[in-house]
Amino acid sequence: MEKTDILSLPYDELIEYVQNRGEKAFRGKQLYQWMHQHLAESFDAMQNLPKSFKEGLDRDCNYHILKSVDLQISQLDGTRKYLFELADGNMVEAVLMHYKHGDSVCISSQVGCKMGCRFCASTLDGWLRNLTPAEMLGQVYSIQRDIWKSMGLTKAPSIGSEEYTNSRISNLVVMGTGEPLDNYENLLTFIRMLTDEHGLNLSQRSITVSTCGLVPKIKALGEEKLGITLALSLHAPNQQKRQELMPIARTYEIHEVVDALREYQNTTGRRVSFEYSLVAGVNDSDGDARELSELIGDIHGHVNLIPVNPIKERDFKSPSHQAAVAFQKKLENCGINVTIRREMGRDIDGACGQLRRRHIHP
Ligand code: SF4
Repeated sequence: MEKTDILSLPYDELIEYVQNRGEKAFRGKQLYQWMHQHLAESFDAMQNLPKSFKEGLDRDCNYHILKSVDLQISQLDGTRKYLFELADGNMVEAVLMHYKHGDSVCISSQVGCKMGCRFCASTLDGWLRNLTPAEMLGQVYSIQRDIWKSMGLTKAPSIGSEEYTNSRISNLVVMGTGEPLDNYENLLTFIRMLTDEHGLNLSQRSITVSTCGLVPKIKALGEEKLGITLALSLHAPNQQKRQELMPIARTYEIHEVVDALREYQNTTGRRVSFEYSLVAGVNDSDGDARELSELIGDIHGHVNLIPVNPIKERDFKSPSHQAAVAFQKKLENCGINVTIRREMGRDIDGACGQLRRRHIHP
């Protein structure tokens, strides 16, 4: 019999599962709390659950805790890049960044990626599989445990205490390896569980999901009316340039994607953001800035300019700081809200997918 992926079960489903095993609903509540608030590392560690119940769960369920097999820590800003091993031996990356407003975690949503964006190391080995909700939660939870450990704690602070609330990660971005909307159902379950009041209870407003532009999925996501921020990886001011950088543009034309974002904003009332990797000599000219402002100038959103992180397999160069600032100014002059993303972890394998790749191809 296939084991139950217990960490992927949302609250109501877990209660039902526990009741189907002949236990009272409150046992399900306790179990959920152990897994999603205390972040217990085994059934055995769940102190107030009966031994026979725990042994049964151990026999019938998978409860895999992601262990970090590699960790890089930036000497410049303390950014921590984790390489986690999944139960089947595959590996995924996640990153913890410290900002003034709190800790932000970036997770992966798939093992590899099939989208083929030219500037991205995550796609070079193709796509292997989707991550389950448990595997996405697992990245967040392992990093949260690490934060507690770095505070000298051996277990979670008391739930509801100031220490618990203050040490909880404050922002989550689904912007690591993979196209999140290509793993749509699992992504939704993951978001609902992470923002569940019975779990870590993050605010939906503190979550950003980044997509390369899967139009039907953007429309479907809008209908969910979540409070999350949607970020579009745009990276080019027109169809021709986008097509050269991002194969997905051959399926969804640039105006169709931007229209879907407009629709998302109208349906949800949420601000959207645009990711724009600046590649020297490719998409950073005055003309590019002008075209970009014409394309998105009417949208209430924010543009993140990201000087491209060079990867050795591609010959892309980052523009100079002055060139990036000049591009920013051009957009600002057109009334666009824009920042140059501070490069976190510049001294470690910062670009998404590089650490995993180094382990696959030593
Ligand atoms: S940028 Fe995102 S969607 Fe594009 S290949 Fe990389 S991981 Fe996939």
